[in-house]
Amino acid sequence: MDLIDGNQIATTLIAELKAEVATFTGRKPCLALVRVGEDPASVSYVKKKEKTAAEIGVTSRIILPPVTITQAELFALIDSLNADPAVDGILVQSPLPKHIDEVAVFRRVSPDKDVDGFNTLNLGKVAQEDDTGFVSCTPAGIMELLARSGTDLKGKHVVVLGRSLIVGKPVALLALQKRAGANGTVTICHSGTANLPALTRQADVLIAAIGRADFVTADMVKPGAVVIDVGINRVPDATKKTGYRLTGDVNFAQVSPLCSKITPVPGGVGPMTVAMLMKNTVKAFHLRSAH
Ligand code: NDP
Repeated sequence: MDLIDGNQIATTLIAELKAEVATFTGRKPCLALVRVGEDPASVSYVKKKEKTAAEIGVTSRIILPPVTITQAELFALIDSLNADPAVDGILVQSPLPKHIDEVAVFRRVSPDKDVDGFNTLNLGKVAQEDDTGFVSCTPAGIMELLARSGTDLKGKHVVVLGRSLIVGKPVALLALQKRAGANGTVTICHSGTANLPALTRQADVLIAAIGRADFVTADMVKPGAVVIDVGINRVPDATKKTGYRLTGDVNFAQVSPLCSKITPVPGGVGPMTVAMLMKNTVKAFHLRSAH
């Protein structure tokens, strides 16, 4: 079994971006990070994004509205960032408080600054195989991990667990695209899928994104499969200072001896998500500078 080292691949990507940004004379790319409230996971994600941006030479602007912000106020904030010529990319950290319509917020971000790739136009461009848009960061990171670890999806059965707009649906569309590295035959499973293990057992490449700790067990995996574990689950653990440990959607101890390649959690898909956000921010900078 080979471990697909997301930390190492992300480090390479970040170094490539840093070298590219160093060649920019004058203004540097600028990413606005909007975090509503104090959700602990969001606090750590935004911190990581800010740190990586600094490492690359991307300017970040951190905006921290209170959890009580109304949808109208959040829209007004996004509108001002959309109109600000100094801002290249906008990321509104998910999850948002229950009183805010998350998809409406994603739609509000101008498509040319939508470095998270959740705007309707950018999701549509994934379906149309139009490279001028932004692919959302986690699905893009998964494709990059597969490519850089030498996994060609052509002729492979790719089974995606989960159909969220953030991971499952876009990664399934990317795996399906008629292009080098992709060209997979894709099955998407969700909570309404009957006899799910019979489908996952057919997977040459299994992508698990359901948010259930250790859901994928040995009996659900074909020997020799490539397994991508997107899940980030906090499991109570009294031996840890934080009181929890992170675990994926795949039971790593059971599944890793069976498969040909697997991503660990943490250190697999997670670091790639941040790296792809930076890649999208640099792309937004180029696209906007071209006008
Ligand atoms: P969502 O909760 O939005 O979607 C979960 C999906 O899994 C849904 O489609 C749901 O089905 C399906 N599902 C849930 N339970 C089952 C089950 N028992 N059997 C079959 N299908 C099931 O989650 P996300 O896509 O946002 O995230 C998934 C995981 O990935 C989470 O652990 C999250 O933390 C992690 N994540 C990691 C990222 C990273 O950077 N590594 C980035 C984003 C997410 P249905 O549609 O029928 O409800």
